[in-house]
Amino acid sequence: MKMPRRIRTHCPFCNSHEEHEIEKVRKGKASEMKWGQRQFRRVTSGYRGYPRPLPVGDKPTKKVDLRYRCTECNKSHTREGFRTSRLELEG
Ligand SMILES: [Zn+2]
Repeated sequence: MKMPRRIRTHCPFCNSHEEHEIEKVRKGKASEMKWGQRQFRRVTSGYRGYPRPLPVGDKPTKKVDLRYRCTECNKSHTREGFRTSRLELEG
């Protein structure tokens, strides 16, 4: 799916329609201090390996993770993601 890089939509901070820039959110590195990561380290330490069976296969589509940044107030908000196999930002 192709999507414009800039759209005009409602900004919850300005409470009006403003130009927004769309940016994809990239996955960051897992922090070692986060609860899930600590749990993972604890469970995988010692004898026996992975805590749970690996998920079977991969879904053909993933939900997109986008930020909408208002060009007026420079604040960003999110929207409910939609499913698509590939997202291209253009324009
Ligand atoms: Zn705004």
